[in-house]
Amino acid sequence: PNRLAVRMFSDTGNIRKSALPASAPPIIVWFREDLRLSDNPALHAAVRQERPIVCLYIHMNGENAGRPLGGASQWWLDKSLKAFSRDIEQLGGQLTVQAGDGSACLDRVIDETGADTVYWNRRYAAAERDADAEIKAHLKDRGIDAESFNARLLVEPWVLKTGSGGFYKVFTPFWKALRACYEAPAALPRPKSLTGPAPETLRIDDLGLHPEKPDWSTGFDAIWSPGETGALNRLNAFLDGPVEAYPEERDHPGKEDGTSGLSPHLRFGEIGPAQIWRTVTSAMEAGRISEDGGWKFLSEIVWREFSYVLLYYRPDLAEANYNSDFDHMPWRTDEPALKAWQTGQTGYPIVDAGMRQLWETGWMHNRVRMIVASFLTKHLLLNWQNGEAWFWDTLVDADPASNPASWQWTAGSGADAAPYFRVFNPITQGQKFDADGAYVRRWCPEIAGLPDKHLHSPWTADEQTLSRAGITLGEDYPCPLVDHKSARERALEAYETLKSQR
Ligand code: FAD
Repeated sequence: PNRLAVRMFSDTGNIRKSALPASAPPIIVWFREDLRLSDNPALHAAVRQERPIVCLYIHMNGENAGRPLGGASQWWLDKSLKAFSRDIEQLGGQLTVQAGDGSACLDRVIDETGADTVYWNRRYAAAERDADAEIKAHLKDRGIDAESFNARLLVEPWVLKTGSGGFYKVFTPFWKALRACYEAPAALPRPKSLTGPAPETLRIDDLGLHPEKPDWSTGFDAIWSPGETGALNRLNAFLDGPVEAYPEERDHPGKEDGTSGLSPHLRFGEIGPAQIWRTVTSAMEAGRISEDGGWKFLSEIVWREFSYVLLYYRPDLAEANYNSDFDHMPWRTDEPALKAWQTGQTGYPIVDAGMRQLWETGWMHNRVRMIVASFLTKHLLLNWQNGEAWFWDTLVDADPASNPASWQWTAGSGADAAPYFRVFNPITQGQKFDADGAYVRRWCPEIAGLPDKHLHSPWTADEQTLSRAGITLGEDYPCPLVDHKSARERALEAYETLKSQR
């Protein structure tokens, strides 16, 4: 292509002819799960070369595209790409959007712009790793330089090894090892301008990511601000106060802002864990936040890292039991029960509140995620994969590592997992962690009139109490789908059969 004829955007956004010599071919920065301008290693490496830059996003489909995003994640991606595209435009550039096979899209953009280099940040799920390796080989074959970087993790999965040379399978020693050796690298600045060729592009709306017919996302807008600015605002707001009470409040779902709400921002790389580590450790050093709150928060960030270690070494984490003993688990098939769980109609208020929060907002509090996951796999004796798939579709933070790792953790089949025989009691969990009932009353308003004493077990209220609260059980709110005691016994018996198969 005639590089001089390629359209260039100036800092003010006006189109001008390239002033760069033909000897400075552009660099393509291929953005994927790293939709941010600050502290972005691939972007920074490109900017340092002082060459034209093509900012590219490829909506991959086809064989090597990996697991298709769920509906809620697509909603997030749509807004995140739009915010990212606006941020790039403010620096004089363009987010070029393509859809299709990764290599074919890259080829097209290379041909159109004359780029000779492609930079990206690494991904860790098996299909994505395979696709990236294939694409890298393809680019090398055609004489294009391809380089990848780490933007997504504090420490990549192959770096920290146990004394015997294996990967960490237990969280606490992993956390200790990481904390002892990790130092966040210096922050990489946000580019001051981003100019380069503006190849043909799809509109983000062409990707069809926003749900239509029906649009179930109406509750999402009030809560979320996808994009880099939204991510940084969340981190700052969290460190400005809630972090102090985090060690205690993080388990109380009724507490607004008890946790950071950063998970979808991390999922799409609008903020990276190194930025969080740096900000939190400097706030602790400056005495701006307490060590208790700061370290507890960072340890949760490291649970995410631990999940990535598991995913890297067990690429089938979402499809197969990490502990193969669970291959013999006599899971039940029960569509109506699964449906009742999905729609928040189990008759156990803390479970139903969680499932409705998930549907309405695309997010669920961590304590309640554990309760609903335990309920599905133990009280209902349904395979954890049913729940993992539902979460994958409905969470805005659905993550290829944290979702299956956490499901397997709760189900008992995972690494360093909660033992299967520890069955969460949804009544006492509700009473303990939602003692004033704020969470259940918000998401199950039909039982809001019940006194606290009966709120987590409406069937224990007498007729008079129910009628004063305006409830007919089985009509306004479901009767319990299973009896807690007998469901628990059934789960334990199932687990016994599994043990006998060893
Ligand atoms: P905070 O408490 O503010 O924590 C800060 C960050 O640390 C989170 O954003 C997240 O990135 C990380 N983190 C915290 N807890 C965990 C954890 N247990 N495992 C891994 N990372 C953690 N998290 C996801 O990001 N995506 C998922 O798909 C996901 N699926 C889950 C499924 C189940 C069954 C369970 C029990 C947990 C799951 N989690 C998942 C972990 C956790 O529930 C969420 O990360 C957390 O609720 C997000 O809210 P937050 O950002 O306010 O968390």
